[in-house]
Parts: sequence; structure tokens; C-alpha cells
Amino acid sequence: MTDTHERTVSTTTGEVPVTGLGPTLMHEHLFVFDAELERNWVRRWDRAEQVDLAVRKLDRAYDHGIRTVVDLTVIGLGRDVELVREVGERTRVQLVVATGVYTFNELPRYVTQRGPGSMNGGPDVLGALLKRDIEEGIAGTDVRASVLKVATDEPGVTPGVERMLRTTAQVHRETGVPIMTHANASLRQGLAQLDIFESEGVDLSRVVIGHCGDSRDLDYHRELLDRGAYVGLDRFGLVHLLPDEDRAEVVAELCRQGYADRLVLSHDSSTYSHSFEPATRERLGDWDYSHISRVVLPALAVAGVAQEQIDQMLVRNPMAVLGHDGPY
Ligand SMILES: [Zn+2]
Repeated sequence: MTDTHERTVSTTTGEVPVTGLGPTLMHEHLFVFDAELERNWVRRWDRAEQVDLAVRKLDRAYDHGIRTVVDLTVIGLGRDVELVREVGERTRVQLVVATGVYTFNELPRYVTQRGPGSMNGGPDVLGALLKRDIEEGIAGTDVRASVLKVATDEPGVTPGVERMLRTTAQVHRETGVPIMTHANASLRQGLAQLDIFESEGVDLSRVVIGHCGDSRDLDYHRELLDRGAYVGLDRFGLVHLLPDEDRAEVVAELCRQGYADRLVLSHDSSTYSHSFEPATRERLGDWDYSHISRVVLPALAVAGVAQEQIDQMLVRNPMAVLGHDGPY
């Protein structure tokens, strides 16, 4: 195990010491869109305008104490690392990026039509592509992925999703880079994810199960936590899924039960996203990267969460997850 002080984390502006991460939002997005749909149908995207908006939103979060934001936008969500880097050069917030394929079912044909038994044959490409993003850099840049992202939702662990989960686990063990997931909380999908990671020999303390905060099912949370995983309470502001008061209550209760050292906080917000019609987004109000700092932390304090526990969730837990121990 390396001394925490020597470890660094890749950001879009270079390596930063893990001790320099500061208050960190562990699950956010800058731009989520399908470039093909955007070009052909939606036609709302204005690059210069959106880059400016992202910089303004991130700087606002910086003014409210946030120092690092993890952008979990991977293949399937519209990743464009040049775009993220451009924002990273202009904002005071440090941006960490991820690699992975976001799918609830099938993998892209580029992946399935290569590898043993496929039309093109040759070696499996999925793991190689994830590793390249982590070890060499994404899309020809020197920006390296510091997180592996994977998703499981309504269809469950389909063959495509299982391949993604297993490949993610293997690349995690080869690189040491932590795993952060999207998991449907009402279907308790985080447990199925942990089962597969465990069967691949993953140390579950290096996994963050995402979107747990969508559910008030504390048994689900405790089951994940007791197996050693981190739990993401990472959709503050998505009030149509669960009101913030309920989300805050879950955090406060888990802190009371002694789990603050395994919780991370975030919004799953975005500057631009195809998931929301402008009117829908409007209804969510002032839901940006500073919402937790402005609104949620004061509510947590009222609910009895100590400043020490807030620092744990926003600073020390992200340091522990991102400043990982390396391959094993
Ligand atoms: Zn997300």
C-alpha cells in the first residue's frame, strides 16, 4: 500500500495529488447527448454557449466550496473528452473523467463484432479500449480515465451487461482504477453488480454503487455497505425520483448508524442533457453542481449530521476511492 500523500489522480489539467482533491462531487456530467440525434433531429446544441455555461456552473460550485467534479459521461452517453478538457482549462474546478460503456442491454456492434467467435475474429477489444483510456489517454489526448463506469438497470444482467461488468472487473484489477456504477435502486441492482464483481475477485471496498439515494430502502443500503462497498447518494435535486428531504433523511440515518465512512454525495446533474426537455429541466429549478453546497448541506446539519461526517463524505471518501491502492 502506497502512502496516500504520494498518490496522484489524473484530471483534465494533469495529475493532482490525492490530498489536493478537496470537496469532490463523485457523480456528475457535463454534456450528455447523442451526437447523431443532435445533428439530425434535436438541433439545440451550441458548443460555445454550452462550454461557457458549464464553466459558469462549475465556477459557481467552486465558490460554494467544491474543488473536484467527477464526470461519469462515458461511451453511450456522448463522451467528448476534448470538450470536457476545454471546460477544464477554463474552470477553477478540477475535472476527473471515466471510461466505460453505458448500456442497459447490448454492447455497441463495434465491440460485439470483434473478438473470438465474431465476424472479424481477433482479440477481444472491450478490455483493451478501457485499458487504453486509463493507461495511455482518451481519444489521442493525454487525459487519462480515473474511474471505470458500468450500468445495470431494468433489463437486469443481460449478456451484454454481464460482459461489461466482468470486463470492468478485470480491467479494474489490472489497473487499480475504481469502479463506479449506475444501478437501479428500486430493483436493488447494486447487489447483482457486487455478486459479479465478487466472482471476479474484486475487493468490494473499491466499488461505489451509484444511485442508492433514489431509494429509502435502508436494508438495500446496509446490505451493500456491509459487503464493503461505497454507496452513492448521488442524485440530490432529482426530486421527481425522490424528494431531497427523503434523500437527506437517508444520509442522516446512515450517518447515525455509523456508515459515514462509506457514503459519497453528488447530483448526477449535467450542463446539457438529452434526458431533459427544457421545460422538464426548468421544473427541477436551480439544480446545478452547487445545489448540495447551497441547499443540502445546511439541511443535513439540521438533521444532525456533523461537519466531520460531511467532510468524510465529501473529501476523505473521494480521496480513498480515487487515490486507490493500484493493481492486484
Ligand atoms: Zn450519471
